[in-house]
Amino acid sequence: MLVIYIKCYSLHKETSMSTFSKPMVMTERQKRFRESYVNQISPFYNGLVHIGVMYVAGLIAIYYCASQLSNPTWAWLTIIPVAIAGNFVEWAMHKYVMHRLIDVFALRAIYDRHTRQHHQYFTDTDYTIDTVKEHRIVFFPWRVLIVLGVAGTVLGYIASKIFNPNVGYILYMTMVGHYLIYETFHYCCHVKENWFVRNMPFINTIRRHHAAHHNLGIMMHKNMNLTFPLADWIMGTSDLKRGLVGTLLNGFNEEHVDPKLRPIVEKFRNGGVQEEKVTLEGPILDQQEQKALQS
Ligand SMILES: [Zn+2]
Ligand SMILES: [Zn+2]
Repeated sequence: MLVIYIKCYSLHKETSMSTFSKPMVMTERQKRFRESYVNQISPFYNGLVHIGVMYVAGLIAIYYCASQLSNPTWAWLTIIPVAIAGNFVEWAMHKYVMHRLIDVFALRAIYDRHTRQHHQYFTDTDYTIDTVKEHRIVFFPWRVLIVLGVAGTVLGYIASKIFNPNVGYILYMTMVGHYLIYETFHYCCHVKENWFVRNMPFINTIRRHHAAHHNLGIMMHKNMNLTFPLADWIMGTSDLKRGLVGTLLNGFNEEHVDPKLRPIVEKFRNGGVQEEKVTLEGPILDQQEQKALQS
């Protein structure tokens, strides 16, 4: 069934030209922001060291936990609830922390880095990077992995006491694995177009999903998942009106985009509108637009 679906989907894909495969167009507003942002990156910043340390630390943590398992059998089922919960945490963090200013030290910094920087640097008409220096604007800083490591240790310890040590280690591995998938998928959203990101199931879905999220009109309301758009589908925040399997395997298809959102998306792609109606805190929306985005 799935194979037939994927085949039909890829036949269909070749016949429909997606907005997101058109050449990138950068507005003046975006150009100005990019220039000033890149100029502020420290000369000591190294994009390869940034992601190298993150992946090596994450993989060592997973390897260590795997080496501690002893005959886990049913404990592997831990992955399912933890991965689903992680999908909702990812959605909620993005919607309620990265896009809502909570004026408390660390949370304000997350909002700053995402809404006021990441979303000005990338829009749905130009969402790609050219250099490794730009990893600075794509990947989270190391402290996020450290916070996740501490949270995983606490939750893993509690689970090991309630169930057994295998469950604790698998919980930890799932949390770190989810984080690495998050960073990898997000990176695949912002690299230049290539065969892999265009054709790989799930990766092509999240690339279109996230590129659409970068539209300056809908960014505060739609497409909050960065791995699999499960929570977006359940919570009604996907820009698509489509069933769950179709949403997860949508790829670059734009046929199912909610018709109510289309005029907003189109409007905020315009450079003049961006100059007039977009602030660092997001778009200035009229009542009708707000209603369309909340439904
Ligand atoms: Zn992004
Ligand atoms: Zn966002």
